[in-house]
Amino acid sequence: MTELADLLRRQIAATGPITVGEYMAACLFHPRHGYYTTRDPLGAAGDFTTAPEISQMFGELVGLALAQAWLDRGAPAPVALAELGPGRGTLMADILRATARVPGFHDAARPVLVEASPTLRARQHETLADRDIDWIDAVGDLPDLPLFLVANEFLDALPVRQFLRDGDAWRERLVGVADDHLTFALGPATAFPDLDHRLADTGQGDMVETSAAATSVAAEIGGRIARRGGVALLIDYGSDGSLGDTFQAVRRHEKEDPLATPGAADLTAHVDFAALSRAAPCPVAGPVAQGVWLERLGIVARARTLADRLEGSARGAHVEGFRRLTHPDAMGHLFKVMALHDDAAPPPGLDIP
Ligand code: SAH
Repeated sequence: MTELADLLRRQIAATGPITVGEYMAACLFHPRHGYYTTRDPLGAAGDFTTAPEISQMFGELVGLALAQAWLDRGAPAPVALAELGPGRGTLMADILRATARVPGFHDAARPVLVEASPTLRARQHETLADRDIDWIDAVGDLPDLPLFLVANEFLDALPVRQFLRDGDAWRERLVGVADDHLTFALGPATAFPDLDHRLADTGQGDMVETSAAATSVAAEIGGRIARRGGVALLIDYGSDGSLGDTFQAVRRHEKEDPLATPGAADLTAHVDFAALSRAAPCPVAGPVAQGVWLERLGIVARARTLADRLEGSARGAHVEGFRRLTHPDAMGHLFKVMALHDDAAPPPGLDIP
């Protein structure tokens, strides 16, 4: 039993069941026992691996797509080059390396990282030691500038609430306590006006998920882009609309019961791109499958060039990384890329539906 499990059990015993969203927020960001607050979860020795940790090609292509979008908008200056949830800083390092030769881009672009975890902030400082970077706590603190932004596997970490359809009402899934253990329970059947539109595309017993945190990020970034211009690339696993229970825990690269080890496992839910799109007060392009998007940006040619410089096991690892990023059986299909943009053309790779 983790210390956080004990704290949550006592809290629930005293004040009643909590929502899945409250549970997720406590597990990920409790100041003393939260998953992200206390550790660096990334990489082979950690709990999960992300696209930028798999291959440098991912960050290179994200960087060049953002720089091309910047050129397409007449190379404005200054602009914010922002990343939400930068993990180890690998993606931003690859973006900056790949865009170093785009004339004027580094002079115009002020890198800003939005990171809530002190542990990962320290890690990002190490990775990006020689760069001039600003760290902020939340998207509301972004500078008032044209925005060129990427978020990879950030939105899936934001809390979701879950609702089970019961007639024309919904029962919220809650976390309670039974026999001294955390357990799922259902709240009373209640009308939720925010879910009225889901009565049309769900049936009795279906589960839907909502993330107020994710839609408010889309509203905030989209509002800035509508006002000041720019593009945001939102990359994550999910689909165009939410249906079913996608709340999951991963520890040491294996799935586990999300209530088993609060604070010690990564908790995520699929991103509902349709909800983000509705929340953004600006044009939206995509989502497009990650594999398709990377191929449109030229990953095959880049993979060949890099492969020609490598031998033996390094070459094998590189080819395997390329496969994982693009293949439909790996990350190529489940992961999607969606762009929020201004009145200029969508960013490269998202100009075709
Ligand atoms: N983008 C990185 C890391 C993904 S892990 C990569 O692709 O490798 C999720 C990241 O989002 C971590 O850096 C985590 O600390 C951060 N994060 C999660 N929720 C956050 C929140 N509400 N505010 C700020 N950062 C958050």
